Amino acid sequence: MGYRSHGVVIGSGIAGLLAARILVNYFQRVTIVERDKLPEQPKPRPGVPQANQSHGILVRGQRILEQLFPGLGRELTAAGAVPLDWIGDTLYGSPDGVYPRFPSDLITTSCSRSLLEWMIRRRVAAYEGVEFRDQCQVQQLLTDGTKVTGVRFSSSESLTAHLILDATGRNSSLPRWLKSLGYPAPQETVVNADLGYTTRWYQRPQSGPDWQQLFLLPKAPHYNRCGVVYPVEDNRWGVSLYGFGKDDPPTDEAGFLGFARSLPSPLIYEAIKSAKPLTPVYSYRGTQNRWRHYEQLDQLPEGLLVFGDGFCAFNPYYGQGITAAAEGALILDQCFQKLGGKITGLTRVFHKKLTRRLTGYWLSTTLRDRPWLTTSEGRPRKMNPLMSFYFQRLGELTLSSPEVYGTFTEVLHWVKSPMSLFRPRILMKVLHL
Ligand SMILES: Cc1cc2nc3c(=O)[nH]c(=O)nc-3n(C[C@H](O)[C@H](O)[C@H](O)COP(=O)(O)OP(=O)(O)OC[C@H]3O[C@@H](n4cnc5c(N)ncnc54)[C@H](O)[C@@H]3O)c2cc1C
Repeated sequence: MGYRSHGVVIGSGIAGLLAARILVNYFQRVTIVERDKLPEQPKPRPGVPQANQSHGILVRGQRILEQLFPGLGRELTAAGAVPLDWIGDTLYGSPDGVYPRFPSDLITTSCSRSLLEWMIRRRVAAYEGVEFRDQCQVQQLLTDGTKVTGVRFSSSESLTAHLILDATGRNSSLPRWLKSLGYPAPQETVVNADLGYTTRWYQRPQSGPDWQQLFLLPKAPHYNRCGVVYPVEDNRWGVSLYGFGKDDPPTDEAGFLGFARSLPSPLIYEAIKSAKPLTPVYSYRGTQNRWRHYEQLDQLPEGLLVFGDGFCAFNPYYGQGITAAAEGALILDQCFQKLGGKITGLTRVFHKKLTRRLTGYWLSTTLRDRPWLTTSEGRPRKMNPLMSFYFQRLGELTLSSPEVYGTFTEVLHWVKSPMSLFRPRILMKVLHL
C-alpha cells in the first residue's frame, strides 16, 4: 500500500483487534474506532455485554492468536490465566456417562474475555501507525459510489479511509447503512435454538476437585439443560448454566442453584453450593446462529469488509466465535498477499474465502442445534440415515475409546478436519470391523 494509505476498523472487540493486527502489515495508518470508552484495566464494558459471560477459546483459535501475537499465552498465564488441557484437565459428563481423561496437547490458557481482549488490545496498540479512537460511534459509511471513502461519526465529524472493516458484532448496523446508501442489504440465515445463557463468578476453592474444568452436556431430545465450571485469573470460577429451547436458567440465587441441581449429574451443584459467589447472575439471550450473506452481494462498495460476528455469529454455547474471527484474520492476510496488498477485488475475494472456511462449521453447528429448534426458519436438512447411524455409533465410542474421543475433540477444536472422523482406524471401530 502507498505511503498515505489508511485502514479503518469499526469496533474494537476481538474480531476488530485481530483484523487490525493484519492491517498493520499493509497500511501506513490503522485506526480502530470504538463507541465505548476503552478501560485501562481488563474490565467488562457496555459495548460487549457478553463479556460477563463465560468465554472459552478453541485450541485452533489459541494457536492462531499465538501466531499473530507470539508470547501471548505466556503473558496471559503471567496475568493469572490458567493453562488447561481440554482432555486431561477437563471432566466431561453427559447423561450417558463420563468421557475419558488423559494428557493431550489440546491446551489453552483459560481467562475472562475481558483479560483476553485487553491483552490483545495492548499488543495491537504497540504497533507503529495504530490509533484507537474510543467514544466514537460510527453513524454511516462514506462512499464515492463505487468505493468506500470513510466513516461519519456525526453531522460535522468524519474520517477518511481507503479500506473500512466492519467488526461491530452481532448487532451490526451495516445492513441499515448500506440500504440507506442505495446498496442492497445482505440476506440473512438465522437458526435459533433459543438458548438461555447465564453466568455467575465464584471464588475458586483452594482445595478443589480433581478437575480444572467441568462440562455437563445436554442430550436431545430429553436433556436440554447443561453447564460448565471453568477457571480464570484471580482464582475465580466462571459458572455458566444453559437451557436450550426457551428454558432460561433463573438469575436469582435459589433459582440458579436449583437449575444446577436439576442437571442430570449433581457435579456442578456440588461444586458451587458452598463456593463463595462474587457477582450476581448475568443472563444473555440473543444467542441464535446468524449468517449475513455478504458473500452473495456483487454490488458492495470496493474496500468494504465485514468480519467477526457481524458476518457469521454462532450459537455461543459452542465457543467458536473468537476462533472464527482468528480464522478471518488469517484469510485476510492471505487475500492481501494474493492481491499484492491491493484493495481492488479484495471485498469479493475475502468474503468468498471466509465463507468457504466457515461453511462446514456453520453446517455442523446448526445440525447440533437442530433438535432444539422451535421454528422451521433456517432449519438445516436432516442428516441422511447412514450418516446419522455413523455419528450415533461414533458418539457411543467417544465414551469408551480414547482414540476416538481424542480425534473427536480435535475436530471440535477445529484442529483437525471432520474428515479425520472417517479415517480407516476410526471407520473400522465404528463399523465393528
Ligand atoms: C453470551 C456469549 C458467550 C460467548 N462465549 C464465547 C466463547 O466461549 N468462546 C468464543 O470463542 N466466543 C464466544 N462468544 C462469541 C465472541 O464473543 C465473539 O464471537 C467474538 O468476541 C467476536 O466478536 P466481535 O468482535 O465480532 O463482536 P463484539 O465482541 O460484539 O464487538 C463489537 C465491537 O464493536 C463496537 N461497536 C458496535 N457498533 C459500533 C459503532 N457503530 N461504532 C463504533 N463501535 C461500535 C462495540 O462496542 C464492540 O466493542 C460468545 C458470545 C456471546 C454472546
